[in-house]
Amino acid sequence: MSRPIQFYDTTLRDGEQTPFVVFSVEQKLQIAHKLADLGMDIIEVGFPAASESEQEATRRAALEVKGPVIAGLARCKTADIDITAKACEAADKARISIVLPISDRHLSASLRITRSEAESQISEAVRHAKKYLDDIEFIATDATRTSEADLLSCLKVAAEAGAMTLVVADTVGCGLPEEIKSLFGRLRASFSPHIKLGIHCHNDFGLATANSLAALEGGADQVEGTINGLGERAGNTALEEVAMILKYHQTSLKFSTNIRTERILETSRLVREVSGVVVQPNKALVGQNAFLHAAGMHQQAMLADPLTFEPFGPELVGGDAALEDRIIFGKFLGKNGLKRLLTLDGVELSESDLEALVAKIRAAIERRETVSRRTMLAWAKGG
Ligand code: MN
Repeated sequence: MSRPIQFYDTTLRDGEQTPFVVFSVEQKLQIAHKLADLGMDIIEVGFPAASESEQEATRRAALEVKGPVIAGLARCKTADIDITAKACEAADKARISIVLPISDRHLSASLRITRSEAESQISEAVRHAKKYLDDIEFIATDATRTSEADLLSCLKVAAEAGAMTLVVADTVGCGLPEEIKSLFGRLRASFSPHIKLGIHCHNDFGLATANSLAALEGGADQVEGTINGLGERAGNTALEEVAMILKYHQTSLKFSTNIRTERILETSRLVREVSGVVVQPNKALVGQNAFLHAAGMHQQAMLADPLTFEPFGPELVGGDAALEDRIIFGKFLGKNGLKRLLTLDGVELSESDLEALVAKIRAAIERRETVSRRTMLAWAKGG
């Protein structure tokens, strides 16, 4: 028996909080359609109370993007909730995600309210939102720097007011996997099964994926994040990573998802193009080097069995490059190594032709050009 995990995408909201990233309404719709094709369960389109264009993007997504739940973010303010409810109105399935920071630091420095005032705000906001919709989520911001008793108390208030999904946000990424896993075990035991638990992580220590996975193992039902890990500072959880981990380790983890992983790369490329935020070359799954091989010593093994140096082939995330194009040459290429590689393809060159080929490949590498095995063979054969 697999436990179904809901994927909640916030590329269009938290992802847009990346410095210098601005999505137009049309761009948000383009990405939202792609996220729906990818199999996202919930798409948070924006923060409708923030601006007219945020409202329009949410309204248009509610009308046009069918399949996923269309969510809008609202603060614990009646006006935010009214605007968000109206913006989501046309969706077949809509959600209002209500957010409030709950740590002592945020309550005193940013909100300037007491804890009991915070709990009243949560209760009133959720009750107000319930007048519009059943599907209300409460996101406890900075929850991992809040005492567990205070966190539990806030979540209970939200649940009693009618919130159906309770989300723990590791807002500055300081959670540790083991702690998050055990926290979710205790939270799961504190709420009835019809209350869904969610995790929302940031990647300040590079732990967002590990922490999200830990929450799911501990009992969370929903994971929030973005494509490519887009987001302010070090970004949010890269949802493509979580999806692929759950798929690859399906037998041991026993989770199921609706994500069509073979659409990961096309979604990643669209988000990269539209946001203008480059993806680091060695980024898991979607970086340009994620399925490239430059080590001469690996080539023979890779040609015999590509799984010698890959966990799975790129086709699982939608990559279509042939192995011949993914095996490339690095600057340490030597004459003898090249000779051995050529014999694998039954090509034999004279010493002088071999030296000329090494020189040609090295010159290309120095110009930062990619020389794949396919290119090398074409050159060797006089191409
Ligand atoms: Mn966030």
